[in-house]
Amino acid sequence: TVVFRKTPSEYPVAGEHLDVETRELVTDLKENEVLTRNLFLSADPYLRGRMRPSPSYIPGYVIGSPLDSYGVAEVVSSKNPAYPVGTIIYGTVRWEEYSVISADRISSFEILPKARELASRIPLSNYVGVAGMPGQTAYSSLKAVAKPKAGETIYISAASGAVGQLVGQLAKLQGLRVVGSAGSDAKVEYLLKELKFDAAFNYKNGSVLESLREAAPEGIDIYYDNVGAEHLEAALEVLNKYGRVVACGQIADYNTKTPYGVKNLMYIVAKSLRVEGFLVTDYTRERKDFLNEISQSILNGDIIYKEDITDGLDKAPEALIGIFHGKNFGKAVIKIADL
Ligand code: NDP
Repeated sequence: TVVFRKTPSEYPVAGEHLDVETRELVTDLKENEVLTRNLFLSADPYLRGRMRPSPSYIPGYVIGSPLDSYGVAEVVSSKNPAYPVGTIIYGTVRWEEYSVISADRISSFEILPKARELASRIPLSNYVGVAGMPGQTAYSSLKAVAKPKAGETIYISAASGAVGQLVGQLAKLQGLRVVGSAGSDAKVEYLLKELKFDAAFNYKNGSVLESLREAAPEGIDIYYDNVGAEHLEAALEVLNKYGRVVACGQIADYNTKTPYGVKNLMYIVAKSLRVEGFLVTDYTRERKDFLNEISQSILNGDIIYKEDITDGLDKAPEALIGIFHGKNFGKAVIKIADL
C-alpha cells in the first residue's frame, strides 16, 4: 500500500511524504461488496493538490491513509451480482494490490467494454491515459473551450505529456498549425517526428518567449496551458487578437510556496483574449462518445500515445513525484499486475 505520510511544503519526497507499507489483506466481503486485484494506476499532477491541507476542488488525502487515483482493476471475489468475478472496472482505485470496494462505492465504477466491442481492443493501460481522464481532458477541453478552426495556430505546453500529446494530435487532425514545448530534446524529437507537430522547442534551452516567437512567427491563436508561470506569460505576449487560453493546469506552481505571478495579464484586455478554466469532471456526460471516438482513432492509427509505465507499487511514489521533475516521458502509469 502507498500511504500518505506527511504534507509536503514543496516537492514531495518518497519515504518522507509518501511511503510504501505492507498491510493485511481483508477478504471477507459483506453484502454487495467486491474484492479487486488492482492492475493499473494513474499518476497525475492533480494528486499533488490532494496533498494539501487546504480545501481544493477534490477531497484531500488523509495522513496515514492510502493514496487513490483513477485505475483499472479486476473483480476477483464478489458478493455483488452486478460485478461478477472477472469484471474489469475503471474508477477510483486505492494504491494497493487488492482492495475491498464497499457497496456504496462500487456503483461509481465503470465496467470496461466486453470482448467484441470496439473499445475492448485497446490496451487496458490506455484506460488511465488516452482513453481515461487525461484523454478526455484533451478531447473535451479542445472542443468546448478552445473551439479551434482549421488554419489557426495552437501552442501547447508540457506537450509530450498525458494531456498534451493528445491535444496536439487532435488539433493536427482538425487542420491547425501545432507548436509544442517540452523539457528535453528527446521529448521535442517525439513531438516533431512521431506526432508531426509543425514546430517544437525545449523550453530549458533558453527563454520561453524567444523560443515561442521563433516557433510561431505569426503569433498563436490558442494557448493550451498545462504549465502556467513563464509559459503563460510568454503565450500572452505572443497571442493574436481575440486569442483563447485553455486554462487546463499550472504545474509550474504546484510545488512552490510562492506562485510565479504572471505579470502581463493586461494583454487579456488589450488583445480581447478569452481565458477559460476547464475541469474534466464537468464533462463525464461525454464519456461514451469520447471513448468510442478515441478507440476508433487509436485502432485506425490516427492517434498514437506514449505511456511511461512503472512496474510495481513499491516504485509508485517515485513515479508520481517524478512527474513534477519532468521524468515521465508520456503518460505516467503504474502497473501493479497483469490481467
Ligand atoms: P504530464 O504527463 O504532462 O506530466 C507533467 C509534465 O509537466 C512533466 O512531465 C513535465 O514535462 C512538465 N512539468 C513539470 N514541472 C514543470 C515545470 N515546473 N515547468 C514546466 N513544465 C513542467 O501531465 P498531464 O498531461 O497529466 O497534465 C498536464 C497538465 O494538465 C497539468 O497541469 C495537470 O494539472 C492538468 N490537468 C488538468 C485537468 C483538468 O481537468 N483541468 C485534467 C488533467 C490534467 P517536461 O519535461 O516537458 O517539462
